[in-house]
Amino acid sequence: MGNNLGTTVIKAGTIIDGTGNKPFKNAAVIVEGSVIKSVERQNLDSLPTGPHVRTLDYPDGYLLPGLVDAHTHLIFGVYGSSYEEVMNNDSDEIMLLRAAKNALTHLKCGVTTIRENGARNRVTFDLREGARRGYATTPRLYLCGRPVTLTGGHFYWCNQEADGVEGVRAAVRELIKDGADHIKIMAAGGGTAITDNRRASYSVEELRAIVDEAHNFGKLTTAHCLATQSLINALDAGVDMMEHAGFIEPDGSFKFDPKIAERIAKQGVYVSPTVQTGYRQREVLLAKELELPLTIQEQNKLEALKSKCESQLEFLGRMWKEWDINIISGTDAIQIFGDYCLGLELMSQAGMSNLDVIRASTSVAAKSIGAGNIFGSIEKGKGADLIIVDHDPIADIRALRSMTMVMRAGEQIL
Ligand SMILES: [Zn+2]
Repeated sequence: MGNNLGTTVIKAGTIIDGTGNKPFKNAAVIVEGSVIKSVERQNLDSLPTGPHVRTLDYPDGYLLPGLVDAHTHLIFGVYGSSYEEVMNNDSDEIMLLRAAKNALTHLKCGVTTIRENGARNRVTFDLREGARRGYATTPRLYLCGRPVTLTGGHFYWCNQEADGVEGVRAAVRELIKDGADHIKIMAAGGGTAITDNRRASYSVEELRAIVDEAHNFGKLTTAHCLATQSLINALDAGVDMMEHAGFIEPDGSFKFDPKIAERIAKQGVYVSPTVQTGYRQREVLLAKELELPLTIQEQNKLEALKSKCESQLEFLGRMWKEWDINIISGTDAIQIFGDYCLGLELMSQAGMSNLDVIRASTSVAAKSIGAGNIFGSIEKGKGADLIIVDHDPIADIRALRSMTMVMRAGEQIL
């Protein structure tokens, strides 16, 4: 457990470095403190040894960079409960404890970095401060704190409602004062009871003001975009990244728009398609359907989930294959933490090669959050965020379901 002093030599049968390079055999990574000092592909006989050197040897193991989840909500993870139930039942203190548990669960699944996309009040800021003091063990945390949303907008109960150009600028300043690393914008309605995911929320002027203010502080922006109009608005405003990219029309249908995809590609906007949301719920209902008849409510829910999951996969495949859009992995872990690999399996199903799925969840994801020079690949000078798995993830991405070793910033967690 926790040893981030001195030198650690990690030998592995295969290294997949996360850059998209082909895997290479029989190599070693030398970790000094929290950083990768070198990657050795020859001279394996002259690796450092001695009483102050720790050697970990995985002759049949696959060594990869730690994984990145670019979209979480650490305060949730209460399977079967609606947002409103959680909001009404739980105090910030309970949410903080749950966030610490969720963060550790994710870390043990190999997720060494989380980009957090929205929590209530100061909960995630307090989690990060607690982790800094050693009260909790978490992945690296990149926080938005509270998402910026209009009055009564999606996630309004996180308590960062803001309206009008002046109002949203003030909200951005307040978030940055509190410690936000990036600004999350709710550009459409969503699962929040009183909102409508078929409609855009903010005006382009308001979105532009948020992006401009965030960029003034050197901070990146990402927008929750379900309604097709919200994708257009976010592109007009120059956001850096898009969550979901739902392509939901005003009548509730899902309709891919190649013109929008072309703009996403041209503007170099990263897309976190969060393909796995609803997938487990769908599986539960499908399994139940085999046993006993579903209620009308459940049937409707299942139909809605089916078309959502299918169109999400189809749109992801098209964005990837036809437009070469920068896709990254994010779970939107609302219901369950520790199910990170499911999203990778679905990306693979949607037509991405497993090598590209690994890039999307390591080096590309790190770049998308402005941390590409800090971690995300196995290269000299990068942070020592490393995982070992027993099976070949290029042959079957499900190999990433089960971790043999997890190291975050040189500290061995598992
Ligand atoms: Zn979300």
